[in-house]
Amino acid sequence: MVEVIAKRPQKKRRRAGRKMFSRHKVCRFCADKELEIDYKDAKTLRIFLTERYKIIPRRISGNCARHQRRLTLEIKRSRHVALLPYTTGHA
Ligand SMILES: [Zn+2]
Repeated sequence: MVEVIAKRPQKKRRRAGRKMFSRHKVCRFCADKELEIDYKDAKTLRIFLTERYKIIPRRISGNCARHQRRLTLEIKRSRHVALLPYTTGHA
């Protein structure tokens, strides 16, 4: 699960190993060939959304440009067919 850290308080200061849990900078879709980007697969798409259903930016998710483009497209499709909400509070 990728969490979004809104603000980083300090620029750089190494403090005993981990400050924010492992930033795996690997595109999940490149790493896992089985993993498809599909608007019908809301569960997978949900990984790349924040708790407010915003799309997690590439710099945080670590996706490559190609897959991030594909992902945003599929998320938008998924929203359009109401598999995913645009925001919270529309329940
Ligand atoms: Zn990729």
